[in-house]
Amino acid sequence: MPLKSILTRRSRHILLAIAALCITVGLMWQSEPTSAVSIPIQQVELPADQSADNTAPPAPDAAEDAKAAADASTKDTENSALSRATEPHPVAYEIQSGDTLSEIFEDHGISANTLHKLLEADAEFLSLETIQPGTTLTFTFDEKNQLQKLDLQMDVARTASYSRTEDGGFEHEEITKPLHWESNRVSGDIHGSFYASGLKAGLDKAQVAKVSQLLKSKLNFRRDLRAGDTFSVIVGHEHTDSQATGNTRIEAIELHRGSRIYYAFLYSDGNYYDETGDSVTPAFLRWPTKRHYRVTSPFNPKRLHPITGRRAPHNGVDLGAPSGTPVMSTGDGIVSRIGNHPYAGKYVEIEHSGTYKTRYLHLSKILVRRGEAVKRGEKIALSGATGRVTGPHLHFELHVRHHPVNPLTAKIPTSARVPADRIAAFRQHIRPLLARLNVPSHLPAKASGNPQGDNGPTQANNSDWTQQCLRPGQCRFN
Ligand SMILES: [Zn+2]
Repeated sequence: MPLKSILTRRSRHILLAIAALCITVGLMWQSEPTSAVSIPIQQVELPADQSADNTAPPAPDAAEDAKAAADASTKDTENSALSRATEPHPVAYEIQSGDTLSEIFEDHGISANTLHKLLEADAEFLSLETIQPGTTLTFTFDEKNQLQKLDLQMDVARTASYSRTEDGGFEHEEITKPLHWESNRVSGDIHGSFYASGLKAGLDKAQVAKVSQLLKSKLNFRRDLRAGDTFSVIVGHEHTDSQATGNTRIEAIELHRGSRIYYAFLYSDGNYYDETGDSVTPAFLRWPTKRHYRVTSPFNPKRLHPITGRRAPHNGVDLGAPSGTPVMSTGDGIVSRIGNHPYAGKYVEIEHSGTYKTRYLHLSKILVRRGEAVKRGEKIALSGATGRVTGPHLHFELHVRHHPVNPLTAKIPTSARVPADRIAAFRQHIRPLLARLNVPSHLPAKASGNPQGDNGPTQANNSDWTQQCLRPGQCRFN
């Protein structure tokens, strides 16, 4: 696209955006908080829920926008000061133990308002919630030292990028490197509890919990296991071209209990089955509440802000549940995150396997702890109206392989068996796994392969983070 037309379109966007911004700021941010952490007391639902007129231009394509910015930065133009930004200069900062976002932003001369805008843009993604000591933030400033872009390295494969939009907000984008899975076998024998034996063999806490969960419909781990019983687990490790991301999944399990053998295999549909193709986990629930509440805002990943045209996706469904409604986990899983966010409110995230994840936002009370195993249908929280909401509701998300999908219509594992037309393919899938699992009966086996158990991403951490950190932005990273 010729530079001139970009600039012309761009300057139109700028003028419209400035006008929209003036109105928006005037109306919405009259009482702009002076502290980075006070949560705006504002009874307005997240932007695109507003049904304002739709006269603004569509959101410029992000890549195009970046290109325009790059062009503008190298060729000085007759255009407004906004696009006259010269060489953007990135500043990297590695999170230290004891840091807070508020302090980091202040140290970099970034306003509390900007931090709020970022948190707002992050409400549907919660990427900033993954920050911990060692995480690198890269700030890119323009010539006026205004923050243009924030890059957050979530793991070696994923970067969350927040780019300033013309209306002064931020747009979130996740950049993922190509990924593949590599696996290793972890074997051991039972001495004491399965928990202790699993850790000793090289599984991490979350993996031990997952193995127990996958086989618990078949045997009681506390009562049934005996010294000398053996197990073998194939653990998948997510990799980029060059290194492991730290994400893991259980791909296959074999457990010898006396003369009996129990199996579980992860199949391509994300569900786990035994060697005959019967599901080992119950199907997912469609709804996270007993009653089916009215959908007050539908799933819409392509939602555009009606005024700014900025992408403001709605990554879940809003269910009109009154405050205090019991919220159930829709599947068996491990609580991977809990938190309190100025826009998302109190939230719970549950990992169901390497494939499925659910999130529950705006809760009034969280009833589970990080690292805890939960069952399908188990009460995990009470719904509420925390964060930035117009009124009480439950925001419910379902992610399949890291992508949000419509939880009310997505294909989820509901079948109790591998479908008949896929059973041959399933048998073929498990044949090499069975060969790898096969634990010689004369164990004691030592952990084989390369147990990377200690640095798994979903390590159980029983401290109740929400109790320690009620003010987002001021949570200390430990
Ligand atoms: Zn919502």
